[in-house]
Amino acid sequence: MPVKKQKRISPALRDIHYNELLESLPNLAIQPWGATEAHNNHLPYGSDYLQAEAISCRAAEKANLLGARSVVLPPVPYGNNAQQLDQISTIHISTTTALAILRDVSFSLKRQGIDKLLLVNTHGGNNFIPLIRDLILETGMLIVLVNIHEMIPEFVAENFEKHGDHAGELETSMMLYLTPELVNMEDAGSGKRIPFKIKGLSKKGVWTPRPWRASHPDLGSGDPSLASFEKGEKYVSRIIEELSEVILELSLAKKGDLPYI
Ligand SMILES: [Zn+2]
Repeated sequence: MPVKKQKRISPALRDIHYNELLESLPNLAIQPWGATEAHNNHLPYGSDYLQAEAISCRAAEKANLLGARSVVLPPVPYGNNAQQLDQISTIHISTTTALAILRDVSFSLKRQGIDKLLLVNTHGGNNFIPLIRDLILETGMLIVLVNIHEMIPEFVAENFEKHGDHAGELETSMMLYLTPELVNMEDAGSGKRIPFKIKGLSKKGVWTPRPWRASHPDLGSGDPSLASFEKGEKYVSRIIEELSEVILELSLAKKGDLPYI
C-alpha cells in the first residue's frame, strides 16, 4: 500500500481514526513513559508523563512529515517511585508491573505486524534495560529505549547553570515552555539536597537510591529559580530534533538493517 505522506497531522493514537491508520499503516510504535509524583511544590504531579507525551508527539510529527510511519501510544503515567511513597498520591509501580505492561503492549503490536517499538522515558527512577533484553528474546521485536535526559549532556552543561535532576532548573524550564499554566513559581522551594552521611556512597560506581523526602526536604532536586521559558524552549526543541531523527531512521529501517534482524 503506498504511503501518503503528510496525510496525518497528529501522530497520537488518541487522536487518530481507524480508517486513517489503514491508509498509512504504522510500522513503528512509540510508547511515552513517565511517572506520577510530587515535583517540589511548583510543578504538577504529571510532569514526567506530560513531557514524555508532548515530546514524543512533536518528534513523531516531524519524522512522519519526512516519511516515517510512526504512531504514539497513550503515555504510561506511572513509574518506579519506591522511595517516594511517603508523598501523598504519588503512585509507584513495581518493575514486575512495568514488565507486564510492556509485554502486553509488545505482543499486541506484534500481532498487528508492528515489530518496532520505541520507549520514550522521562523518569530517572525507571530502568527498562533488563526488561527490554528479556522482551526482545520473547518477542523477536526491535525494542529501543530513549532516556530523554541522557540525550544531549553537552548541551545541558553549556546551557544550564545547575540543571538538577528533579524539578530543578532544567525540568522547570521544560514545563515553563510546555505547560506554563501548570507551573507555580512562587511556591518553589530551593531544591537542596541533604548529603548522605555515609561518605563512601558518593564514590563513583557506588549507588543506592535516595530516601527522597529525607534527602530532598522540598521534594525537588535542583534550584528551580534559574529556570526560564527560553531555556526550556531551546532544550525541548533540541530533544525533539534528536528524537525525530531516531524515529525516522527506525521507521525506515528494513529487516536486516542491524540491529533490526
Ligand atoms: Zn519529573
